[in-house]
Amino acid sequence: MPEDTSKDSTINPKQVLDTIKQGVLAFDHNWNCRYANEEGAKYLGFSKKQILGKDILKLVPTFSETQLYAKSIESLTTNKFLKFQCRNTRGVIWYNFHINPSPTLVVIYINNVTEETEKFLKLEESEKHHRTLIESVKDYAIFLLDHKGKITTWNKGAENLLGHSAENIIGKQVSLFYAKEDRVRSKNPTFFTNQLGLLQTDGKIEHDRWWIRKDGSRFWANEITTAFVNDKGKIDGFTKVVRDMTERKNTDEMLKRYTQDLERTSRAVEAEVAKDEALLDSIGEAVVAVDGEGRIVVFNQQAQSLLGYTAPDVLGDYYFNVWNSVNEDQEMIALEKRPLSVTLKTGKKVINTSCYFSSTYRRAFPVMLTSAPVVLEGQIIGAVMVFRDIRKEKEVDRAKSEFVSLASHQLRTPLTAIKLYVEILLGSNFGVISTEQQEVLTSINESNEKMIRLVENLLNVSRLETGTLSIKTEQTVLKDFVADTVRESNAVAELNNCTVVLTMPSSSDIRITTDLVLLRQVLTNLINNAITYSKGRKSTVYVNVKVHPGKYFEISVEDSGIGIPKDALQNIFQRFYRADNAVKARTEGNGLGLYMCKMVTEALGGKIACVSKLEVGTTFTICFPLSKVRPASKSRRK
Ligand code: ADP
Repeated sequence: MPEDTSKDSTINPKQVLDTIKQGVLAFDHNWNCRYANEEGAKYLGFSKKQILGKDILKLVPTFSETQLYAKSIESLTTNKFLKFQCRNTRGVIWYNFHINPSPTLVVIYINNVTEETEKFLKLEESEKHHRTLIESVKDYAIFLLDHKGKITTWNKGAENLLGHSAENIIGKQVSLFYAKEDRVRSKNPTFFTNQLGLLQTDGKIEHDRWWIRKDGSRFWANEITTAFVNDKGKIDGFTKVVRDMTERKNTDEMLKRYTQDLERTSRAVEAEVAKDEALLDSIGEAVVAVDGEGRIVVFNQQAQSLLGYTAPDVLGDYYFNVWNSVNEDQEMIALEKRPLSVTLKTGKKVINTSCYFSSTYRRAFPVMLTSAPVVLEGQIIGAVMVFRDIRKEKEVDRAKSEFVSLASHQLRTPLTAIKLYVEILLGSNFGVISTEQQEVLTSINESNEKMIRLVENLLNVSRLETGTLSIKTEQTVLKDFVADTVRESNAVAELNNCTVVLTMPSSSDIRITTDLVLLRQVLTNLINNAITYSKGRKSTVYVNVKVHPGKYFEISVEDSGIGIPKDALQNIFQRFYRADNAVKARTEGNGLGLYMCKMVTEALGGKIACVSKLEVGTTFTICFPLSKVRPASKSRRK
């Protein structure tokens, strides 16, 4: 309790000391407490009353072990004022002690400085962390400069990046690292003022420029400079953070080069595309390209004029929405059978001459088309179709067939007359003829027969092509029909030193209904070919008949002649086609016979096939369904 001083006009200093926050203790040299204010007593764990006049060493025996005791002794013995700081025994409160020695007393002032000390310690700790952090950064050079640009700190990263150790760089000018051109620039006062101005307004400047290492090598650096501005707005110093951007710069430059290359390539591609487009537009054929889904990607000028659309109208559209496709009988062709669809699905090239195209703007016109796949890394990614209007060709073809038909008709009558008259002469109706005369007449007859067959073939072909071949069905017994036809060929066989052997099962004793004249022509052609393409020496041709009751019958003609080369097999039914070995073996021939055989067989509802091996022999087989025989009618136009 403070003493009552209200009646006293003078203030007792002890009373003042009692009111202050600072602890005050005074001991005589025997450690008796001669004065203590409340704060001072509290420090020792007592009240002021409890401690006054007491020997502290007796009151608190452990006092002699405290740092305060040790320091007080030191102060007394050295007779010097001492100041120190320590924490209390529980380590939670920081105290500041001032010890004043005098000849009779030792006065101790105690201040509780926990708050400031903790703050200071925390700050110190965080600075330590920062320093460690900056020190440990290896990829960035981080350092400080004073206001004149002299280096004051140097981290590990700076050492790594620039090659200088802290000892030999601290105190040097930062411009040491700049490339010559930048050094000159930075000396320019205007430049410097500008930089400072920027630092003051923005707080930092960022630069990308060359920096020089200790060994003289350069690297492309990104440099961020920040200024420390003091209370008066003046710059005290700078921090610099520098990193090596050479790799990045190289990558950027590489990217730039790639971009330029790409631009150049894309310009070249554009030019190429323009060239291709011009080329595509200039050709006489229509060209349409579709992607893997059938969407139009190219539609050239000719395609536009044939189908009546402009390219922008149809690009991106499915091709089957743009034009229709019908066959020769004007029947719609199913989508999956349309050439582009077939090519996209199978990857096969399709050539077609029997298609008609039409669109909203164009009436149906016949086309000759080729559709081919576009293949990328084994994948069908689209198809290209080239086509042209063949109306004119069709007309010319038709006119030609009509001419052939007319000419053949005109030829047939005199040839039949020659045949008749030669047979009369050979039959000795006008007197006996000599052996020489007979030989000559036989040769005339043979040549005439060939001419008749040729004319018949020509007639059939032109009728088939103009669609005027009429099929007249009759009934006959299969067995008799084949036997008759073979018998007629015997004369030719004999002349060629050949025997024709006919094999017929009893099942061939059935009635068939077909156009006998046409079927006879087919069979005769096959037998004559077998005879003539057998090698000069004695040969045998086998004609075999097979019947599959209720289903079909087949007649095969087999020889052991020159055979057909493998690559020619696919062409032998084409008009005017003759294989090389046949041309060598027999110069005369026209390549019409097999073409006619195929067309007629199919017109009669049958099929023809050929199996052959070069130098071994050939077998042609025709087969016809037994139930399905075409009625007498006009064949389809081809
Ligand atoms: P041509 O016999 O007048 O040449 P074809 O149309 O009858 O005409 O035959 C076409 C081609 O088929 C022949 O040129 C020949 O190359 C081949 N050929 C037909 N039959 C036979 C056969 N039996 N043996 C070998 N080649 C044949």
